Amino acid sequence: MLEINPDIQFKKELIKTSQAPLSKCMQCGTCSVVCSLAPDDKPFPRKEMIWAAWGIRDQLMGNADIWLCHQCGDCSTYCPRGVKPADVLSALRQMSYRYYARPSCIARMMSEVKWLPLALIFPVVIIAVILALAGTLKIPDGSVNYSKFFPHAWLNSSFTLITLISYGLAVYSLKNFIKDLRRQFPDLKFKGGILLQMLRSSRTIAIHTKFGSCSVNRFRKWAHLLVFYGFNLLLLVTVYAIYAALTHRYPLGFFNPFKILGNLAAFMLVIGLGMMIVKRLVGRKTVNSNYSDWLLLISLLLLTLSGVVIEWARFGNWGSAYHLYFFHLVCVWFVIIYLPYTKFGHTFYRLVAISVADAAGRK
Ligand code: SF4
Ligand code: SF4
Repeated sequence: MLEINPDIQFKKELIKTSQAPLSKCMQCGTCSVVCSLAPDDKPFPRKEMIWAAWGIRDQLMGNADIWLCHQCGDCSTYCPRGVKPADVLSALRQMSYRYYARPSCIARMMSEVKWLPLALIFPVVIIAVILALAGTLKIPDGSVNYSKFFPHAWLNSSFTLITLISYGLAVYSLKNFIKDLRRQFPDLKFKGGILLQMLRSSRTIAIHTKFGSCSVNRFRKWAHLLVFYGFNLLLLVTVYAIYAALTHRYPLGFFNPFKILGNLAAFMLVIGLGMMIVKRLVGRKTVNSNYSDWLLLISLLLLTLSGVVIEWARFGNWGSAYHLYFFHLVCVWFVIIYLPYTKFGHTFYRLVAISVADAAGRK
């Protein structure tokens, strides 16, 4: 028998995050009917809307279905009561980072604009301390060479270590997430282990099949694909750049194939992010955008643009090159190191939830 434990505080937080009039839902089920991703058996999002209206946190956190939703907005478009179920599911995903991420205070810091100054000060101070320890906390003389300002050994080792700590904590959070997902699928078994299952499930993510099923908002698939592949290409180029630094082949020349690949990736990211930003600005009636959405889009855009600008600054020997480089490192921190605590964390949580749903045969 299902034990019902309403949590009024949780419901208030959900209303604040989603801006949705939860009590207006009349349980007509239109949202589940129009959703092309909802399975026939126990479809979403109607059942989530009941739990949301009652504030049943235990049913909503650790619920794979809220991650099977790809926020196309079809359900919000057709909801006769204007309840915006797409925004409710999006808010639940954002609340999941705060619920599972450890330490949770960082996830809270990244979810409200009032904490933005603190979120900025944190990387600025730590990067300044690393530079001071390296003995390079000053603008170097001569032509621009970023390794004179932030020696590669210090940059690679400190950023790798901090990223590993952040992602190590994310693994711990995901273990708790999987434990809760098992409540929905008590007989869950991974054929060959969870990592193999994640590899199998990542195929649908790689070709974005689920985005293609949305009817109202089809264009999102192309914007998302550009950002997805642009970002992954940039990661590949970054790994090569670290290797080049270790083998003393850095900086890369303008016509180096990896440099060209990096510029192509930046172009894809700028176009994809531009499409997403325009869509969010003109499509406010279909899908609501909150601080977490904008924080991710803006920090990814600033990371990409600052990466391009510091490249020009190096070739052009700009006087402001090192200041721009410092700003770029803060952007790297926001996107990569803060990843498990921001909306970007959906890359982990969605993959895990889709893998669990696939393993449980939920199609
Ligand atoms: S959210 Fe809207 S469409 Fe869905 S059950 Fe409630 S009233 Fe109906
Ligand atoms: S936003 Fe789209 S995918 Fe998500 S529940 Fe609504 S209709 Fe389904």
